[in-house]
Amino acid sequence: MSTDYDLISIGGGSGGLAVSQRAAEYGARALVIEPKPLGGTCVNAGCVPKKVMWNAASIAHALDDAPEYAFDAVPRASVDWPRLKAARDAYIARLNGIYERNLERKSITWVRGRARFVDPHTVSVDGSVYRARHVVIATGGEPIVPPVPGAERGITSDGFFALETMPRRVALVGTGYVAVEFACTLAALGAKVTLFMRQERVLRSFDVMLSAALMTEMKGDGIELVSHAVVREVAAAGAAHRLVLVDGREFGDFDCVLWAIGRQPATADLGLRDVGVATYDDGVVITDRFQATNVEGVYAIGDVTGREALTPVAIAAGRRLSDRLFNGQADRHLDYNLIPTVVFTHPPIGTIGLTESAARELHGEAVKVYRSSFVPLYHALTARKRRAEMKLVCVGSEERIVGLHVIGAGSDEMLQGFAVAMKMGATKADFDNTVAIHPTSAEELVTMR
Ligand code: FAD
Ligand code: NDP
Repeated sequence: MSTDYDLISIGGGSGGLAVSQRAAEYGARALVIEPKPLGGTCVNAGCVPKKVMWNAASIAHALDDAPEYAFDAVPRASVDWPRLKAARDAYIARLNGIYERNLERKSITWVRGRARFVDPHTVSVDGSVYRARHVVIATGGEPIVPPVPGAERGITSDGFFALETMPRRVALVGTGYVAVEFACTLAALGAKVTLFMRQERVLRSFDVMLSAALMTEMKGDGIELVSHAVVREVAAAGAAHRLVLVDGREFGDFDCVLWAIGRQPATADLGLRDVGVATYDDGVVITDRFQATNVEGVYAIGDVTGREALTPVAIAAGRRLSDRLFNGQADRHLDYNLIPTVVFTHPPIGTIGLTESAARELHGEAVKVYRSSFVPLYHALTARKRRAEMKLVCVGSEERIVGLHVIGAGSDEMLQGFAVAMKMGATKADFDNTVAIHPTSAEELVTMR
């Protein structure tokens, strides 16, 4: 059987759904190929369930603070993990259904299965063959498990969302988004968390102010940070696990070992080499600024392209690609500069643009930095003081803002508006000319001296 379409998306995650829905809005016949429930990593094992858990952790912190806000009778109940998971799963199932109905409404066909290229315009799924003028690779990525003995005793972020009970003693390996987000959430919910870093810092690619402040907060939450920790083996300790490091140190016992050491593109079984689509050695699909691969009619969007692995980035790239292919917007493409991002730790981090050190490397003496460090008003009444730290990185005599970095309560919701201003080329004077909102933490960003 062979069926013809204008566009095929291999993958029904953030990018694949966005590119096919935008194509269909322009009247194109679109096909989505996806073996799992629709929504991809973000909906099923990423942003959405993660944010639910972050919310639960925020409530746990609020319960801790409640007596200091004169709620004397509030008991510090422990979370009912199975009930929380059931509610979270039900919400995700609802989202899966909404995505499915959205495809139906837009007359987009969904084929449930895994696709493999036959030729640049043809893919096969379980013996059926589908053809299209344009084929988009939107297969995302999967968590990496290190090749060490006993690694299979651990789980990844996928396994975390499948946990039916709360692990009490957790070893988290890694220093990126997933490691710090899960560490903070699990600690807030009452787990004893030990985080293993290959070097000395978490979030090493972020501004050093952010990673230093986060490490202070993590330690304050009882998270043990182990530096220079390279895992040699995960050993059995009855039903539990022990981590043996390359330098001979041993840690344990743990109920759960969680690998959070990055993700790899899901391209291994797509047949890319057979059709000549170029990838880097790690399987990342090479694309130009129009998301085009080296093979005519084949494109890639989202995590599989090795650019910023964020849901809104995959969506924006997908929509712009369809604007270009089906709506005559010849130059339409995603500008990957100044992408805002939030790390959902406790407290959260919001960051956009150049770190101070990257700016100094690029612009040398022309860089001027403004900083603010304070205890948010919320903590006036609490014994535990979580500080907020903010930094503006400016360049040139006009003091154009090229980096904005915040850690502190509310920074997750603070960043979006400031990102608009920066995208429009805001300068320090523009911030100074903006009247503050009081009493907030955000006002510090427009009152720095
Ligand atoms: P995906 O959403 O991964 O979709 C790819 C789809 O392709 C999958 O559904 C897969 O089943 C399918 N597929 C794979 N191979 C094939 C094949 N051969 N045939 C057919 N289909 C195939 N981003 C944020 O912006 N904010 C967050 O808060 C955030 N939190 C995250 C938390 C975690 C724990 C993780 C892991 C990620 C998080 N992300 C977050 C990142 C975000 O989930 C991804 O950037 C986003 O999902 C990428 O979208 P995508 O379309 O490229 O890939
Ligand atoms: P990241 O790429 O963020 O971080 C992984 C880190 O683990 C590396 O930076 C590295 O840090 C460390 N690492 C790498 N290999 C090893 C190893 N073999 N042993 C020990 N440590 C190792 O990956 P994540 O899995 O955390 O997240 C993947 C992506 O998903 C993120 O980059 C982000 O784009 C997205 N995401 C976004 C979120 C959000 O928007 N809030 C939340 C979660 C994920 P070092 O070099 O310091 O050792």
